[in-house]
Amino acid sequence: MHSTLDILLQQQLAALDAAHRRRRLRPFSWVDGRLRDAGGRVLIDASSNDYLGLSQHPLVKARAAEWAERHGAGAPASRLVTGTRDITLAVEEKLAAFKGCEAALLFSSGFQANATVIPSLARVGAGETAIFSDALNHASIVHGCRAARAQTQVFRHNDLDHLEDMLRRHAGKPGRRLILTESVFSMDGDRADLPALLQLAERHGAALYVDEAHASGVLGPQGRGLAAECGGVDIVMGTLGKAFGAFGAYVAGSRALIDWLVNCCPGFIYTTALPPAVLGAVDATLDLVPGMERERVQLAQNSQRLRDALALRNYDTLGSTTQIVPAVIGSEADALAAARRLEDAGILAVAIRPPTVAAGTSRLRFALGSHLDDEAMARLLAALSDL
Ligand SMILES: *Cc1c(COP(=O)(O)O)cnc(C)c1O
Repeated sequence: MHSTLDILLQQQLAALDAAHRRRRLRPFSWVDGRLRDAGGRVLIDASSNDYLGLSQHPLVKARAAEWAERHGAGAPASRLVTGTRDITLAVEEKLAAFKGCEAALLFSSGFQANATVIPSLARVGAGETAIFSDALNHASIVHGCRAARAQTQVFRHNDLDHLEDMLRRHAGKPGRRLILTESVFSMDGDRADLPALLQLAERHGAALYVDEAHASGVLGPQGRGLAAECGGVDIVMGTLGKAFGAFGAYVAGSRALIDWLVNCCPGFIYTTALPPAVLGAVDATLDLVPGMERERVQLAQNSQRLRDALALRNYDTLGSTTQIVPAVIGSEADALAAARRLEDAGILAVAIRPPTVAAGTSRLRFALGSHLDDEAMARLLAALSDL
């Protein structure tokens, strides 16, 4: 017997299937640090966000195990109850120093941080806060804007004239202004112009919130992110599950910002603290990342080689200048077919489809790593020629 709900769900799933938009979970395994599919076949991983290979680093794994052994498998409560330990505060201090900010606060995930910090910020001060958000901002930022129930204006991607227009039209209205952007955009791999955004924010009395999920560890001085390059960003958010190879997220900024979030941010207050193993992994990566210049150079070279090869074959790479390199295909079905052909050649480059990206821009999204050596890159480029 199927319930009415199940029948409706099955109809919706069938519609997704027909549109080539149905998503399915696939199991992978990492054996000796190499990606394998369910059948055990080794694939060249061009889809993970483990940009520096840190999730497999011996020191990172060892410290995760050591801290779990010493402090236990889980944090027993939320941060304001008994979930804060000396190691939690020490990792937050280390993060703040890494980001060049007064203070930092750990979150369970980047999604949770964006979804809950943005609404918290929108509630500060008298009157309604107006939010200005880049059109390509991550789903978690969009979620945060909706949860804020504040007026949100979406400016065209990286179009600062459009943003300035909106800010001008808003001038004279009461309430605060908050500009939201990513420093490296997760699906296009291009960058925001943070110095120009800072100038705009200053001119219009707005606060600037920057999501560094894909820049932290990879870009900026010693991998400290693009906000560290220019300074002055009010709220810097980043994740620890991508280049940091661990899990969780953080917000960094002034002491007042962090103390206020501790008091007023529900996604920080009403959730269990990160477990010791995660803190250990993050602690180790914070020791390693500043010194990984060789890996960052290798990653930039890999990315440039891939972009050059794609340009030669007339693929649109959408202004990518980072380790995220899209190759726009168009329809969902064609993008899936291209991903399948690459996989036949031993390359895992997952197809990204709507609603993650706009209709008609389904693509292969390459996310490269510094651990892809010359042989792996050569195989990747050869497979492209056969597409
Ligand atoms: C991945 C991502 C997040 C979410 O971070 P998680 O820690 O994976 O939840 C937030 N913002 C951007 C831009 C991302 O790419």
